[in-house]
Amino acid sequence: MAGEPEKNILKTPALLEYIFQTNSYRREHEQLKELREATVKNYNQSSVMGVPVDEGQLLSMLLKVMNAKRTIEVGVFTGYSLLTTALALPADGHIVAIDTNREAFDFGLEFIKKAGVDNKINFINSDAYSVLNDLINNEKEIGTFDFAFVDAMKVDFKKYHEQLLKLVKIGGVIAYDNTLWSGTVAQTLEELHQNLNDHPSRDMLIKARNDTQDFNTFIANDPRIESSLVSIGDGVTLCRRVY
Ligand code: SAH
Ligand code: CA
Repeated sequence: MAGEPEKNILKTPALLEYIFQTNSYRREHEQLKELREATVKNYNQSSVMGVPVDEGQLLSMLLKVMNAKRTIEVGVFTGYSLLTTALALPADGHIVAIDTNREAFDFGLEFIKKAGVDNKINFINSDAYSVLNDLINNEKEIGTFDFAFVDAMKVDFKKYHEQLLKLVKIGGVIAYDNTLWSGTVAQTLEELHQNLNDHPSRDMLIKARNDTQDFNTFIANDPRIESSLVSIGDGVTLCRRVY
């Protein structure tokens, strides 16, 4: 079989649990833990949208290694990845955080305030495409961001990519979340139809899987960036702007 699967160490759910228990949970910031638990309680199923604790730690490490100061977040929800970012940035760090859903952000804001990092966040309650366009139209924002985290609808990833390549500096990083889409990117359409047989959101899930495959192929062939599709969480693709 292609891809040397014997080199992928994560073979069982127990192994993921081991990573969480021995490392990730022990190092999770108190307010991140509170926010994660409150989100599960209040949003049930939708809480799976938040990045898991091991991925949050990878993003935090990356931001610190890069010395990131200015970031963009597309898709905030209750703010797990946003709070992770705010905690990783220096005191004068700045995040432009965009979401059409203010209610979920307000729910998480309590925890962000308690952690004392709300001053680093400029939340904009709007459609991300128009906000990024406004930023691009402001000359002094061009090429000033170190990092962007994109976690909204897959169908929009390509157009955000074009916008973010203008806003993120050369050498900066754009991270795209859920690029393995529960593993469905590696399934045939027949398998998908079988597995999702009477799932209430079947058509939406299949469409998003197709959009994700399309995006992954596009990114792998884009010479303006270097990229790495990391198999953590639901898959996160890290792109470093080369020119
Ligand atoms: N990063 C978050 C999860 C984001 S879930 C975390 O780790 O917790 C995806 C979010 O994208 C949702 O809150 C949804 O409201 C938002 N979203 C979807 N389409 C959008 C758009 N066009 N513009 C801005 N936000 C959008
Ligand atoms: Ca996500």
